[in-house]
Amino acid sequence: MPRYDDLDRLEVLTVVTGQLVNETPLRVGAGRETPFGSAVDIAPITIRFADGRSVPYIPGSSMKGVLRSLAEAMVRAQGKVVHSPWDFEKIEDEARNGNYCIICGTFGSTKLASHIRIYDVYPETDALTFVKTSVGINREFRGVDPGILYTEQQVVPHVRWSFRMDVVNIRVFPEPQDERGELLIRLIGMLVDGMVQVGARRTLGYGRLRLEKGSYRVYEVEEGRLVKKAEGDGG
Ligand SMILES: [Zn+2]
Repeated sequence: MPRYDDLDRLEVLTVVTGQLVNETPLRVGAGRETPFGSAVDIAPITIRFADGRSVPYIPGSSMKGVLRSLAEAMVRAQGKVVHSPWDFEKIEDEARNGNYCIICGTFGSTKLASHIRIYDVYPETDALTFVKTSVGINREFRGVDPGILYTEQQVVPHVRWSFRMDVVNIRVFPEPQDERGELLIRLIGMLVDGMVQVGARRTLGYGRLRLEKGSYRVYEVEEGRLVKKAEGDGG
């Protein structure tokens, strides 16, 4: 029976870093729409740096959400049942029995802290944007409505972004030690293969990310200090 409620103590910390490259245009921001008629109706999430520059970025929580749904799909593809993140009865059950599923045991639930943390993803090169105008869909009649034009701001392809994920108490590298470690290896493999998409317009192929220069460092606690035990490029 898996006991994944072990976050009261740190045993092993794995830090995965690398550069994400968006291979296709990236629309950051999940549907926060301003009224039609403004210059950019759907804005990417932007942040202003201390030097005054405003840059788009991908919140770590969005990135984590994308990886979680991908993980759910991969576990389902193995023929296993995956409960919804809103199935509170099942989540209560898991907590009562201390028997957490692979998804909650990795990404957390309302009853269990997450074993992974994904940092906000910032551009490392100039994140140039362009504005695209599209024809809207009439919601009532479900047809294309040329009367509704909307614009969205997108990041040009091939921008490089910082990526960092911390994994706590799951052994992933150099060899996975449980089903969650194996799942994370496969997720990272999908990032390396450019199979992960973020942002809106995913059905159009937008927001496809590839992980390059990926590497890992593994730390363990020894006499109250974090000591580096292994590192590598995952290859
Ligand atoms: Zn669960």
